Amino acid sequence: MENALHARDRAGVQDFVLLEDYRNEESFIGNLRKRFKENHIYTYIGSVLVSVNPYKDLGIYKKEFVEHYRNVNFYELPPHVFAIADTAYRLMREECCDQCILISGESGAGKTEASKKILHYLAAASYHAKQVEHVKDKLLKSNPVLEAFGNAKTNRNDNSSRFGKYMDIEFSFLGAPLGGHILNYLLEKSRVVHQNPGERNFHIFYQLVMGADDELLQKLFLRREPELYYYMNQGGSTRVNGIDDAAQFQVVKSALTVIDFTEEEEEALFTTVASVLHLGNVGFTENNGQAIIAQEKSVSSVCKLLGCPEDMLKDALTHRTIEARGDSVVSPLNRDQAIYARDALSKAVYERQFKWLVKKLNDSLENKDESGRKTLMGLLDIYGFEIFKNNSFEQFCINYCNEKLQQLFIQLTLKSEQEEYKREGIEWETIEYFNNKIICDLIEEQHKGVISVLDEECLRPGDATDLTFLDKLETTVGSHPHFLSHKLADNKTKKTLSREEFRLKHYAGDVTYKVEGFLDKNNDLLYRDLKRTMTKTSNLITKSTFPEDELTSKKRPDTAATQFKKSLSQLMQILMSKEPWYIRCIKPNDNKQSAVFDDTIVGHQVKYLGLMENLRVRRAGFAYRRPYEVFLKRYKCLCPGTWPNYQGSAKDGVEKLVNHLGYRPDDYRMGKTKLFIRLPRTLFKTEDDFQHK
Ligand code: ADP
Ligand code: MG
Repeated sequence: MENALHARDRAGVQDFVLLEDYRNEESFIGNLRKRFKENHIYTYIGSVLVSVNPYKDLGIYKKEFVEHYRNVNFYELPPHVFAIADTAYRLMREECCDQCILISGESGAGKTEASKKILHYLAAASYHAKQVEHVKDKLLKSNPVLEAFGNAKTNRNDNSSRFGKYMDIEFSFLGAPLGGHILNYLLEKSRVVHQNPGERNFHIFYQLVMGADDELLQKLFLRREPELYYYMNQGGSTRVNGIDDAAQFQVVKSALTVIDFTEEEEEALFTTVASVLHLGNVGFTENNGQAIIAQEKSVSSVCKLLGCPEDMLKDALTHRTIEARGDSVVSPLNRDQAIYARDALSKAVYERQFKWLVKKLNDSLENKDESGRKTLMGLLDIYGFEIFKNNSFEQFCINYCNEKLQQLFIQLTLKSEQEEYKREGIEWETIEYFNNKIICDLIEEQHKGVISVLDEECLRPGDATDLTFLDKLETTVGSHPHFLSHKLADNKTKKTLSREEFRLKHYAGDVTYKVEGFLDKNNDLLYRDLKRTMTKTSNLITKSTFPEDELTSKKRPDTAATQFKKSLSQLMQILMSKEPWYIRCIKPNDNKQSAVFDDTIVGHQVKYLGLMENLRVRRAGFAYRRPYEVFLKRYKCLCPGTWPNYQGSAKDGVEKLVNHLGYRPDDYRMGKTKLFIRLPRTLFKTEDDFQHK
């Protein structure tokens, strides 16, 4: 098998560092294409793994591959996601150092699949013992549950994750998994109430309606016809080729048992999902500007399911109580306002349920044993840079997140790379790279960043609108080199920007954002009347996720952007303390097709992911580095001066070795504690020699 693997890898270079014409984007893409056509979807840039989605089963994740990559040195086998997982896992154990694997890329590029492959590898390759098999089972089963509630069919990906996910897995010093913890980011809750043509709502709705037995359906007042429900039928496609919703429902149900859900909790979960579907079918008519409920039956289903007074929900859906100076005034909503209120309620119920679900998963995954040394392996699967025709608040948040991740990448690799050369006393020309800190500041700086300005407008009583927000932006950050709007643009650029837009020059390219909806989405308002109704429910999920004290609390909750900013800063802290590994995922075309490699589409991603710059730095530096002791131990048998008997220092021994192996002066550098080798090519050769002996 080993030979087969090597022979199969002749197309292109398996590490971009070996590419002759490494500054040329065309040859970069050419190498990816060449390898892709040979089904070699993985290529390294040093220790960064680039992966191109094959959109077909390549049979390269089988058990024998797990065995093959286990305990083998990184550069000795063709690039593979298992090699990254294995190296990170081994480093974690041997050096007792927390690791994290960061997976990025556009929607459909293969991030979630990669993270699942890693989890699968870690479960298969790590320490086996009866008492940890249950933990492994839970870790693996958490995925189908999260995907049911957080993934959906979009036009880009039939199983698109609509939330960001970071997962820590905790290991014992023996390398046995002990538990895990999940953090989730920005669930795309607007999908609960609206889907674009060709898209679907979250999988769980279809799974429930198609997969629940007749008895459960009846109990939930549902019919086995997804087309009947407004929240499921807007995209015009309730079924997806290749997805068996009914079968998946059984998978989810059995996974729930593994992760310690009681029957009662399971029932509450499906009841909440059903109640959201019924809520979506509550229609309104209007009389004299006052909304009137048209589907009494749907409201009554919701109330029976959640256990709340029917009159109270009806009132809350059609009226709003405004409290001013101690007085409260009840005013009726018109039809549009009622629809808005209904949708806000559905989104809130679903989002809070999702958080509740993650918390339940975490309770079940928690390692309660405090004793002994532990290390962590983090896995980040989060949306990549997004540039659509229309970009709104969601894209703003996602792209902000990617700026932060790029900043982390710079700090952890580009900067640390240069610092290591300095530390090791190696002469090296400093390489220029664009530091995107300036863009992060533009977005998040206290009092003068975009988020601060947005929050200020959200809190300002009176006449604040999306357009006054834009005005404020112009006065506050107008002179920033990475900000532009219609008013500030020159005549030529004016034509490409409307009065309702602003443009940010992101590290990955310019993105134009429409301000429409920014205030509303950032405020994330749910009328108090609806909140109060939810606190009166008896369903254990809605009851616990809408606590009474939220009504009495005087403190305004953080806005959506500020919550996100805080959780990102927490994530950066977590990642910063770990050794990072990067997987950069690329999709070969926009049509989910196998065997189609579109140079233009790949080119954009190469740019957004900053791969050329990454390669430039790697290439200017020394891709392979090992402490003298480690290198000597591994290769000493290749040189009569160091084998079989050698007594001198490790550094002197390595010097003898590289001289004997005929390394040219430019191929390597001797640092204070480490040997640096420019290209691992020289190393491959010695490894071959090594194998022939
Ligand atoms: P992302 O999470 O980046 O949006 P996914 O990981 O969900 O993308 O991948 C989208 C689809 O592409 C998957 O459902 C699967 O069909 C296919 N795919 C992704 N990675 C692979 C792979 N390594 N091998 C085979 N198919 C893959
Ligand atoms: Mg995904």
